[in-house]
Amino acid sequence: MIPVNTPLLNGNEQKYLNECIETGWISSEGPFVERFEQEFSAYVDRKFGVAVANGSAALDIAVQALGLAEGDEVIMPAFTIISPAFSVVRVGAVPVLVESDPLTFNMDVSLIEAKITPKTKAIIVVHIYGFPVDMDPVLELCEKHGLLLIEDAAEMHGQTYKGKKCGSFGDMSIFSFYPNKHITTGEGGMIVCNNEFFFNKCKKLRNLSFEPDKPRFIHYEMGWNYRMTNLQAAIGVAQLENIDYHIQKKREIGRAYQSNLAGLKGFQLPLEKTAYADNIYWVFALVAESESDCQQVCRKLAEKGIGTRPFFWPIHQQPVFNNKGMFKNESYPIAEKIARNGFYLPSGLGLSADDISTVCSVLKEIVQDTQ
Ligand SMILES: *Cc1c(COP(=O)(O)O)cnc(C)c1O
Repeated sequence: MIPVNTPLLNGNEQKYLNECIETGWISSEGPFVERFEQEFSAYVDRKFGVAVANGSAALDIAVQALGLAEGDEVIMPAFTIISPAFSVVRVGAVPVLVESDPLTFNMDVSLIEAKITPKTKAIIVVHIYGFPVDMDPVLELCEKHGLLLIEDAAEMHGQTYKGKKCGSFGDMSIFSFYPNKHITTGEGGMIVCNNEFFFNKCKKLRNLSFEPDKPRFIHYEMGWNYRMTNLQAAIGVAQLENIDYHIQKKREIGRAYQSNLAGLKGFQLPLEKTAYADNIYWVFALVAESESDCQQVCRKLAEKGIGTRPFFWPIHQQPVFNNKGMFKNESYPIAEKIARNGFYLPSGLGLSADDISTVCSVLKEIVQDTQ
């Protein structure tokens, strides 16, 4: 059995967890939380970090902290995990969707400006699977139209855009530390920013909006308990010590698949690079020629004990939104096609060279048999 993801926990994780237990610091009050915030935010070239329960919580807080509200329009990709859309819809704002690029799967930035209206308040960019969004045109539009920018860098730890760290763009960026990301805390996330006002606002929202300078248990605003525990942060600090190795390993996995599967008929392989970044291979993503090919290959791989995952489902076709009357009659053919025809192979950091060879030879056999 080769699962779609296995994490790598071979550094100081156990040692730091033992420290938590020996000292009794297991809640969010423990010292690893601030240490993780400082070390991770510095790693992505930001001044401040706010560690939270998960990446989706980080998006909720970022959207709330920037003051997005009822009736505001927020531009985001049609093809993404649902989290940014949930965060926007929860505050009563309106996601305005942008079609995808068929090769990077990121939003096609040349289509953004046509979506800007007097109600547009913000853009959320989501870097998908391996490449950053082409940021320069997005930054220009934000400048020109006075828009806020949130960067969802949940899949891009250590990736760069033209040499600048993902997570360093815009008003706030968010990360996830779910076990399939480049570094993990089990569950976990972080908001990073350079603005001290936003930093304090995020810390407050994470902590039930307790007022730091007013009597405790008297609240003036809504908030969440989205705190990260010292146990999670202890794992995060240990993982961060090995992040260069994790990134190198992901790239080795990507390159091994790339050379082993070169020329595979009927499937689009990932790009190795774009003009502004090298693929970081968060996952090794393939697009089949048809939806039925995709389903058949994934089913047959599963029969041989090899895990796969389908791509994200497009936001405009999510029943949860359609049932609210949203995105009726909207169509983004590229997002729809990659969502239906795309899947990814086992891509976790625990994958061995033998595992990769096995996956590739099984996949090639399946493809040969069905053609
Ligand atoms: C994983 C992920 C998230 C959500 O993170 P969780 O920690 O699972 O809540 C958000 N955005 C993107 C792009 C992701 O890949």
